[in-house]
Amino acid sequence: MTEQADFVIIGLGAMGSAVLYQLAKRGAHAIGVDRFAPPHRMGSSHGETRITRQAVGEGGDYAPLVLNSHRIWRELEADTGEKLLNDCGVLVMAPGTGPTSHHGKPDFVARSIEVARDFGIKHEVLDGAEVARRFPQFLGLAGNEKAYYEPGGGYVFPERCISAQLNRGSQLGAQIRTGVEVLSIDQHGMVRIETSSGTIQAQQAVVTAGGWTAPLLGAPFDRLLTVNRQVLHWYELDDLAAYGPDAPAFVWMHGATDVDYLYGFPPLPGDRRIKVATEQYETLTTANTIDREVDPAESAEMYRKHVKGRLAGATPRVTQTAACLYTVTPDRGFIIDRHPRYDRIFVVSACSGHGFKHSAGIGDVVAEQLTGGSNRVDLTSFSIARFE
Ligand SMILES: Cc1cc2nc3c(=O)[nH]c(=O)nc-3n(C[C@H](O)[C@H](O)[C@H](O)COP(=O)(O)OP(=O)(O)OC[C@H]3O[C@@H](n4cnc5c(N)ncnc54)[C@H](O)[C@@H]3O)c2cc1C
Repeated sequence: MTEQADFVIIGLGAMGSAVLYQLAKRGAHAIGVDRFAPPHRMGSSHGETRITRQAVGEGGDYAPLVLNSHRIWRELEADTGEKLLNDCGVLVMAPGTGPTSHHGKPDFVARSIEVARDFGIKHEVLDGAEVARRFPQFLGLAGNEKAYYEPGGGYVFPERCISAQLNRGSQLGAQIRTGVEVLSIDQHGMVRIETSSGTIQAQQAVVTAGGWTAPLLGAPFDRLLTVNRQVLHWYELDDLAAYGPDAPAFVWMHGATDVDYLYGFPPLPGDRRIKVATEQYETLTTANTIDREVDPAESAEMYRKHVKGRLAGATPRVTQTAACLYTVTPDRGFIIDRHPRYDRIFVVSACSGHGFKHSAGIGDVVAEQLTGGSNRVDLTSFSIARFE
């Protein structure tokens, strides 16, 4: 028997849980399906924390999404009593001279400042000497670094955000099916979704399958999306003195290229460790074949190249690691658009390693479009057509 639904959301990670919650809030009949049981450690949304910056140096087109995300997380915190967003502040720092590149954009600090000014986001522009004075966790600064400090930024708890949206969505009437894999999706009039436990026919579907998007949808996504393995490391701190209550999350470019950088988080309350990571774009993987084990040599190299001499109290002792998927487009931007051949299938993913902060806002704008609401956010920059 074929089940009928208004909306089916395929994948319930960061993006899918947000779309499901927003559809349920609008009273829509929505079914969410996931091959695992989110939040889980198999995709792109695990590892305790994700940085959020409101003035995103990736570009002003993203700002309405993240600003809306912050509003939604506060709303969810009030509804659920869960702490989702810690606005401990965020610092973005680059060398004082020479070119820099981050998430495919040059001059990321200057771009962040520009977006902050355009959107009236509270911020300060600092040099390295001022950073060293105010935030003693950062060591070895030359003094002439350029830094953007945003007191309203910080980090979110990704697993809690996903759970909160799924729980609220379910309370509002959405159906959630975990341990169910979508095997194929097609449109002949309605959308037909074959799953490991039967067929669903939907008015519209949303594919939020993260690293599995290309294998599920094929062309043109198999040409546009690549998947990179990224690693998170938790290093023990032998001294917490430099990490006061206002210690910010940080993005620290210390060289000219996209990989000359580290980002990290202040220790969580009661924890004596610092979580940090860098990025790599050279080695490709797939969501099904990624090596989820982290070799101790990887953490040793991360420490030697990026952590040593830069973070107060950080020792090379690692107590936890995680491997995670970045699903990346050619311009390191997002795809939030209808499928080029199927107008009833919306694709929301490929968030190129910087999507979590926008996810709640993306859920809102997508649900609005699916239910025929007004276009409050211009999604042109996230179209598939830009790659043609
Ligand atoms: C290490 C790392 C650090 C990051 N740091 C930041 C950060 O600091 N700030 C920030 O804003 N962003 C950050 N990001 C990016 C952000 O986390 C991702 O953009 C976001 O989590 C992607 O969410 P998603 O919903 O697309 O994918 P996922 O959360 O992986 O969800 C996809 C879901 O689809 C399901 N699925 C897939 N295929 C099927 C199928 N066929 N049938 C049923 N279910 C299916 C999967 O099981 C999964 O649950 C980081 C990413 C990584 C990996």
